Amino acid sequence: MVRRGLATGITGRQIASVQVLHPRPVRRHLPGAADFEHQLTGRTFAAPRRRGKYLWLPFTDGDALLAHLGMSGQFRLAPAAAPLAPNTRVLIGFADGELGLRFVDQRMFGGLSLSPGGAELPHEVAHIGRDPFDPEFDLAAAVARLRAKRTGIKRALLDQQLISGIGNIYADEALWAARMHYAHPTQTLTRARAAEVVTAAAAVMRGALGQGGTSFDALYVNVNGTSGYFDRSLAAYGREGEPCPRCAAPIKAVVVGQRSSFYCSICQR
Ligand SMILES: [Zn+2]
Repeated sequence: MVRRGLATGITGRQIASVQVLHPRPVRRHLPGAADFEHQLTGRTFAAPRRRGKYLWLPFTDGDALLAHLGMSGQFRLAPAAAPLAPNTRVLIGFADGELGLRFVDQRMFGGLSLSPGGAELPHEVAHIGRDPFDPEFDLAAAVARLRAKRTGIKRALLDQQLISGIGNIYADEALWAARMHYAHPTQTLTRARAAEVVTAAAAVMRGALGQGGTSFDALYVNVNGTSGYFDRSLAAYGREGEPCPRCAAPIKAVVVGQRSSFYCSICQR
């Protein structure tokens, strides 16, 4: 259940009850789980919003419930009497009916917290860059931020403060498409080359969505997931030793910043 589904399910509904079943997902709420339950009860949700891996559920009073989905967090709507799915962590019941909101998270890297005054933009989210599909994404501004960094291009692509949503797989595929070495210094990139690689990343992401038949929000819910797209369409990622689709040289693998990077040493110098 991602943002669009959530919007129809919770917008305008008043919270009648909150049950925290596991304390870990609300650990950022320092006064504790009981206070979290108390603070939310009685509030009414406005339409959910998202930036990067953060989703926030604004309340009509100007505060917000902030959700970091981590690796495995997700929201589901279910009747109050329905059996709990494994790893259900928080239950939210509404005043107007049986259909409640559940936060399910197997690995619990993410979590929920109350963001006072965060309805418009929680301060926890303000430093996160927009993703390439955000209507307010500004390519020229993203390129300027990228070129102002003194780092390698792959690290910059993965930096969620610059641009959000580009994961490891998308970064490798974008660099292959743009024929760019993963360590190319960002400060020596021309504007055109930087724009080319960001645009390539967006195209790879759009391709993954097209073939998976899913929404962009789902990329965040299932960020490590491998849809059928990845099996068929990857040019470099995960293909160590296999021929480059462009020049047939074997794809190489290295570890950059604790992540595997796959590239063609002929095409991407
Ligand atoms: Zn090649």
